[in-house]
Amino acid sequence: MLARYAGVTDPGRRRRRNEDAYVAEPPLFAIADGMGGAQAGEVASGLAAAVLEEATGEERGEARVAALIQEANRRVFQRSNEDAATSGMGTTMTVALVDNSDGTIAFGHVGDSRAYRIRGGALEQLTDDHSLVGELVRSGRLSPEEAETHPQRSVITRALGTEADVDVDTFTAEAEPDDIYLLCSDGLTDMISTREILSVVEASPDLDEAARHLIEAANAGGGEDNITVVLFQIDRAEGNADAGETARLPAAVSEPADEQAEDEDTLSPLDAVPAVDTAVIPSEAVREQLQEVEVQQSATPPRRILPLVVLILLLVALVALAVWGLTR
Ligand code: MG
Repeated sequence: MLARYAGVTDPGRRRRRNEDAYVAEPPLFAIADGMGGAQAGEVASGLAAAVLEEATGEERGEARVAALIQEANRRVFQRSNEDAATSGMGTTMTVALVDNSDGTIAFGHVGDSRAYRIRGGALEQLTDDHSLVGELVRSGRLSPEEAETHPQRSVITRALGTEADVDVDTFTAEAEPDDIYLLCSDGLTDMISTREILSVVEASPDLDEAARHLIEAANAGGGEDNITVVLFQIDRAEGNADAGETARLPAAVSEPADEQAEDEDTLSPLDAVPAVDTAVIPSEAVREQLQEVEVQQSATPPRRILPLVVLILLLVALVALAVWGLTR
């Protein structure tokens, strides 16, 4: 059922090092976006990816994916405790495990890297971002548009390697013929819109080209962070191979860079907001921040109203004084 796959990573245009890592070893695919001072980010994502490449296990599906991510967490946490140079390092991790026997894909996820599915010409985000802005959007306090330019959008609420245990999101997707799955780091999604991701993939003749064009588009959009994409595709429907190939080619193929220039939605916020390094803050701290936001929001209206009331009272007093002066 698994047909093709591709994986590409690129340092981007602003970072000297690449702290992203990926695994593309069917049926297992994964992406890790490391963080930490000096070279620690590379150590964290590299260690986590190595755990997946080595791993053998009896479990299947979500249990296997969760066990792999827990093992990766233990390995990164242990190393950061033993080696002062890597203290405090961490990494995101998004894993997909394809089960060819029953046509399902098990996903496991920690952090703000993402998994998407392209099906029937639409792109759907499968993972929830474990980030401050992700929590604010899910609770209705921030719009998705505001989240894209929020100064704290790189603050994540869960990471591998920062604590002895990690809470892993897992879920299973039913694969359908022609599905394309994309795992990517925030270096892609912070630089180009989901609309552009979809159009780049749909305009590419194969997954290798699609991966390459996504990296080019993210670099054209600023390349502020390391960019990594892993793509895999489910087999075409029986007897539909030729039709499928033709259908995937658009009438006019435009270069990603041109699309970027036309796409003001993705360009303008990036010009205005400087790159922010990834940081992880624990969920308790996020809850405190959320409470602060609530307190500020509830405190705002009276503050705005108060000067107006004072102004009106002053005006009334002045008019009264004038009337009193005239009638005297
Ligand atoms: Mg990143």
